[in-house]
Amino acid sequence: MKRNIIAGNWKMNMNNSQTAELIAALGKLGKETKTEVVVCVPFTNLAAARKAIRGTGIKLGAQNVHWAKSGAFTGEVSADMLTEQGVEYVIVGHSERRQYFNETNETVNARAKAALAAGLKVIICVGETLDQREQGITEKVVTEQTIAALTDISAEQLKKVVIAYEPVWAIGTGKTATAQDANDTIAVIRKVVRKLYSRTIAGALRIQYGGSMNANNAKELMAMPQIDGGLIGGASLKPADFIKVVQFDK
Ligand code: PEP
Repeated sequence: MKRNIIAGNWKMNMNNSQTAELIAALGKLGKETKTEVVVCVPFTNLAAARKAIRGTGIKLGAQNVHWAKSGAFTGEVSADMLTEQGVEYVIVGHSERRQYFNETNETVNARAKAALAAGLKVIICVGETLDQREQGITEKVVTEQTIAALTDISAEQLKKVVIAYEPVWAIGTGKTATAQDANDTIAVIRKVVRKLYSRTIAGALRIQYGGSMNANNAKELMAMPQIDGGLIGGASLKPADFIKVVQFDK
């Protein structure tokens, strides 16, 4: 049985004391639900978050990882550095990384492979921009992103991969894809995975929706058959809202 996964992407927000407060406000959220719950915090908050999640059932995540094991990559953090901090999940290829930091399909793949090789679980983000959507090339874009991101990732490694479908125009804008649109695009991604691996593997892969998912729309989105979770930005910073998203079925 597949387990839904809701991950908070805190982006560049929260200091250490706010991290402790926010996680305390979530209580034992990870234990009170069938859904897997993750918080992806800034690197500087990993230690505080690691301490705060003890006994809560909430998992620790980071927001990026470099492809090299070590070396002259100023400002970057390796997969081993993350595992040493108790990190279990890492996001790669978030659209903000692609948009502002020249992340490409190739670097997303390199980061994902390095993370998996170090034993991390990876949340790989894909999604079209507004311009691409208006051009009618959403399927082409997510297909290319998915194929590129999964290059040289084995079926065994794929068990540790979650894909987040995040239409870029829906991130942080308050605009959400309709549940049907999100479901349909996720079905496209799953079909790509089916062709690359197998029907069983594609069926077992967890694919999240992300993009202004919140306390009000989580239930409808999560009811869609293709949607196995959410990557939550803004609403993950508000404990009451994040709890409602995680407990969408209550
Ligand atoms: C995100 O950052 O991945 C995201 C989905 O943000 P928001 O929920 O704020 O749109």
